Amino acid sequence: MAGVKNKGVYDVIVVGNGALGLGLAYQLRKRDANLSIAVIGPSHRTGGATVAAGAMINVWAEMSAGQYDNPALGERAELTVKAMALWDQHCTELSEFAEGPLEVKWGTYILNNALGSPHEVRAVDYIIEAMRERGVPHEVLQPESVSWLKPEQKGRAMRAVRVPDGRIDPRLVLKAYERFCIARNIDLYDSTAEKLEVGLRLPFGSANKTVTLAQGTALKTKTVVLASGSFSQALVDQVPDLRREVPRLVWGAGSGLDISMPAWIHRYGGIDRSVFDIDAVVRTVDRGGACGIHLVPYGNGEYYLGSSSGVWFEPEPKPRVHAIHVLLRSLVEEINYAFFFAMMSTRGPGFRPVAMDTFPLLGQSHMPGIWFANGTKRDGFTCSPYLCSEIAKEILGGNSDLPTRFQPSRKLISYKTSKQAIEDFVSADFGGEIQHGLNLPPYALEGYREMKRAKIEKIYEKRGIKEFGIHPELPHLYENDEFFAACNHKREMD
Ligand SMILES: Cc1cc2nc3c(=O)[nH]c(=O)nc-3n(C[C@H](O)[C@H](O)[C@H](O)COP(=O)(O)OP(=O)(O)OC[C@H]3O[C@@H](n4cnc5c(N)ncnc54)[C@H](O)[C@@H]3O)c2cc1C
Repeated sequence: MAGVKNKGVYDVIVVGNGALGLGLAYQLRKRDANLSIAVIGPSHRTGGATVAAGAMINVWAEMSAGQYDNPALGERAELTVKAMALWDQHCTELSEFAEGPLEVKWGTYILNNALGSPHEVRAVDYIIEAMRERGVPHEVLQPESVSWLKPEQKGRAMRAVRVPDGRIDPRLVLKAYERFCIARNIDLYDSTAEKLEVGLRLPFGSANKTVTLAQGTALKTKTVVLASGSFSQALVDQVPDLRREVPRLVWGAGSGLDISMPAWIHRYGGIDRSVFDIDAVVRTVDRGGACGIHLVPYGNGEYYLGSSSGVWFEPEPKPRVHAIHVLLRSLVEEINYAFFFAMMSTRGPGFRPVAMDTFPLLGQSHMPGIWFANGTKRDGFTCSPYLCSEIAKEILGGNSDLPTRFQPSRKLISYKTSKQAIEDFVSADFGGEIQHGLNLPPYALEGYREMKRAKIEKIYEKRGIKEFGIHPELPHLYENDEFFAACNHKREMD
């Protein structure tokens, strides 16, 4: 165990060594030099979300049409806006512990093209309007003016918008956190937490929680933070009171690809070399519930291509064929045909931590001393400096600016109204099916949408849900009886 010095009793135990777990340990230590802190997490990080991400600092390009019309979605978006403002300073400070200077490279191109659904065009219209209202600098470009944008004919872009979102390799950030931990007396346990026990009520402030590691070592604390993404559910399940009050975590599976240009191209050329000029993230917006195709340039002909997305009841250990197929096809069809010659390997799957309402679980639960830094879904890396800093303040007895609606012990938060959620499901599902090859003559479109609408209305009916909006990525968890029995939770409506 790297740097383990304490005798198994800590002021704070953080379970999880991803962006949230390590980021929290970092923020706690920055504020308190004497706190004893342990972070538990396996160095292989199999299934970890942070290491499966490219990653984008995704803020404006993540907004969906009408985001700020709904208070919960608006507050969710504000987490990314607030985090974005922290990243430059965060990198400067963390660079002291990194192998080289850490830096967010700012700039992202959002594409609209004929291969997307109308829902994508609406989202980009909304993003432009939201940025205009807030005075966020951006540029709407003619696709022809972007020199490296060379899609196939059928993927020709209609619009490219340059927004301020950025990119940074999350693996470098994790490495810097680890070096910080070792330098600043934070104990890192290269293991998994297998057991969580909460002792009887003891004198205030006593270490009544026991976390047992895979090797059998028992660690004690008064404050435990569940930051191991969806893996945390296995610990929650061991504490019935917690399981009853906190929305279940399911698995937001996603895989990406590491793409690189072969040596012969570097040496001899022979392709359109404009791929080497891609100077910023290039992406579509949300597509069928996934974060759109996105290419993150690492420089020198190396890229990350992301990412697939599906919310599952159980994790699958390998990427699905259709997920990788869509990514590869989009890369060549929609961004630059020269990628036809690129080499690739898969990254992931990683599991985005997704709560049963898709909103995050942040702060202390109703059980004193059990905290969550979790449920961040698909932009948790972006949000991490802000979330970790606010949660650290609270753990140390201060106040945080985090929205109280995302506290972990809560009812499920409605996704808009049921009516809007149903319409959004139909649009998102359509966008997803287009990606998988659906091609309908225009006259058949309304019939198709009706069929999908009827299907989802049946799920609402089956579960007696009238007003509550099920997030468009989750209806299958309500449809299947076994999943529903495990995932059902009090809802804020109905
Ligand atoms: C393919 C993909 C692409 C993404 N792209 C982006 C992006 O571009 N930008 C962005 O902001 N976000 C992105 N996300 C989302 C983002 O990665 C997550 O929201 C965020 O990383 C979650 O961080 P975390 O620390 O909560 O979870 P994780 O990174 O999953 O960390 C949890 C850690 O806990 C460890 N663990 C597991 N079991 C145990 C146990 N029993 N005990 C202790 N530790 C355990 C795991 O090994 C893991 O390292 C993406 C996610 C995926 C999957």
